[in-house]
Amino acid sequence: MIKEMVCIVCPMGCHLKIDTESLNVTGNTCPRGPVYAKEELTAPKRVITSTVRIVGGVHNRLPVKTDMSIPKELNFECMKLLNNIEVKSPIKHGEIIIENILGTGANIVACRDM
Ligand code: SF4
Repeated sequence: MIKEMVCIVCPMGCHLKIDTESLNVTGNTCPRGPVYAKEELTAPKRVITSTVRIVGGVHNRLPVKTDMSIPKELNFECMKLLNNIEVKSPIKHGEIIIENILGTGANIVACRDM
């Protein structure tokens, strides 16, 4: 079976086709396309972007993200955890808010100073 997907590794957004049996990939402009398509088919991962509550900042939500992609099936659990986090200002851009979230090796980091 041929599965179609859009490569999200860079803004080119190549339209990829992957044979689900042979894992042969076509439609890619560079070698990162087949790597992405195979991972997406077998163990999809995503970078999580969200916000957490912050006390004493100029806003009441601090934008955060994972510093690397984590297994897609953990997205919901990760968002639930972030929903229960509260940090105190001042926070520096890049500061680790949660280390090794859900044992993935990824950290939740602040996306701005606040
Ligand atoms: S295949 Fe390469 S050029 Fe095309 S979107 Fe993916 S990373 Fe970008």
